[in-house]
Amino acid sequence: MIRWKGKAVCRGIVCGPAAVLKRDERVKRQKTADPAAEISRLESALEEAKGQLEKLYKRAAAEVGEDSAAIFEVHRMMLEDEDYLDAARNLIAGESINAEYAVSVTGDNFSEMFAGMEDEYMKARAADVRDVSVRLVRCLRGEEEPDFSSLPPSVVFADDLTPSETVRLDKSRILAFVTVHGSVNSHTAILARTMSIPAVVGVPVDFEKLKNGSPVVVDAFSGEVIADPDGETLAAAEKRMAEERENAELLQSLKGKENITKDGHRVELFANVGSVSDVGYALENDAGGIGLFRSEFLYLGRNDYPGEEEQYQAYRQVLQIMAGKKVVIRTLDIGADKQAAYFGLEKEENPAMGFRAIRLCLTRPKIFKTQLRALLRAARYGNLSVMYPMITSGEEIKRIYALVAEAEAELKSEGIPYKIPEQGIMIETPAAAVISDLLAGSVDFFSVGTNDLTQYMLAIDRQNEKLDEFYDPHHEAVLRTIRLVVENAHRAGKWVGICGELGADASLTETFLRIGVDELSVSPSMILRLRKKISEIRLDG
Ligand code: PEP
Ligand code: MG
Repeated sequence: MIRWKGKAVCRGIVCGPAAVLKRDERVKRQKTADPAAEISRLESALEEAKGQLEKLYKRAAAEVGEDSAAIFEVHRMMLEDEDYLDAARNLIAGESINAEYAVSVTGDNFSEMFAGMEDEYMKARAADVRDVSVRLVRCLRGEEEPDFSSLPPSVVFADDLTPSETVRLDKSRILAFVTVHGSVNSHTAILARTMSIPAVVGVPVDFEKLKNGSPVVVDAFSGEVIADPDGETLAAAEKRMAEERENAELLQSLKGKENITKDGHRVELFANVGSVSDVGYALENDAGGIGLFRSEFLYLGRNDYPGEEEQYQAYRQVLQIMAGKKVVIRTLDIGADKQAAYFGLEKEENPAMGFRAIRLCLTRPKIFKTQLRALLRAARYGNLSVMYPMITSGEEIKRIYALVAEAEAELKSEGIPYKIPEQGIMIETPAAAVISDLLAGSVDFFSVGTNDLTQYMLAIDRQNEKLDEFYDPHHEAVLRTIRLVVENAHRAGKWVGICGELGADASLTETFLRIGVDELSVSPSMILRLRKKISEIRLDG
């Protein structure tokens, strides 16, 4: 039995087999005395990788059709590209270095080259080159890629997971996530909470000792992860699981009830989601609406931009499923930890303060307008509100409205039906909060993004796991700021919500109600818990 301790980021307790998804993929540079032997290792790994891709192509073609399977054929062809292979071979021979390092550097170089191209199709190939290189490095290391489609539901172990890797996983096969790295407020942790998958980060897993398939217990209350548990530990975990099931059943009795305090104050409880399929969790948990649909997840885990039609269908589906309930769709908030290689974004010194969200959309209006057109078209099918992220000024809002007007004019002239939805902004930069009195007049609502607001107010990178102990969303500066934003919104007659993770913090629910927050948008699994909490509060006492 081995015990490790980490930070629980999504509550729950499970037992199941381990599946090691990804070890540390950093590749070390090592000198070799025999470059020719390294080159022949590279040639064998190439054959192995091509064989894997052929198998993947055949299986995908049979299961999802040839069009969707074509990507594996493209990857296989990349492994036959002489420029790519010569670059790797020359590095090995010229610098007497190991094949893994040569492949990794060549992959990075080629990927950057594609990312810098004008043509959108070529730009999108950057991600493929990187994927192919990772596969080749894995073959060189003799590591096997776990085949999730043939595994039983498992506890996924990884060194780290990016949001784009997380969205690619088949959720029905994941019992829990355990990662060595990762911060409590990263988007991967947020995704786990959205999908109610127990998760523990910062676990010092010894991958040498953890075997695929061996039994593990993940206690995502205490943050404990136990591999090869003894009978007693297993029995205790099973008892806790049964208790949890009972608690969850008790909460079910709150379905269909109002979110109302003992003395009659009501508040909206909405859900945060990242995909169309997450909307099911919102309904299961009786959400009054969707308060944050993170549309950027539509752009992650793929090799090219989602087009207008694809986006329109997705948004329309969400609106139709929610059948008249409010749905707040946030426009593309890509950048920082949410990366898709086909955007071809350059590496930045300070990505959190860099080229992300609305800054990217205003500088690349073609991408933004595709999304706006899809949203305007979908707005006819339900109660849509569109929300813009990372706003710092009224000037940005003016530029957004100009693009909305362009999208509208285009749709009108093309005879395509549309509707202009309610439009609001996220308050997640200190600048927007401080001038929220000035901004309130030009928008329909505010939603406070406490994850970023805390990061920028306290000058603490939310991605940096070493700073988790200093990342304090209860800081008086954050709470005063929320109060200010609510006052300014209400003075202008606008509604205001909280869609950052703090909205789900039951120890602050009473404070938020006293401040006058109109809506809390939280991960679906928190809705009934908060409804219960609200029903225990009395504000006039
Ligand atoms: C926030 O910053 O609080 C927020 C809701 O947005 P995200 O977590 O996606 O940055
Ligand atoms: Mg944010």
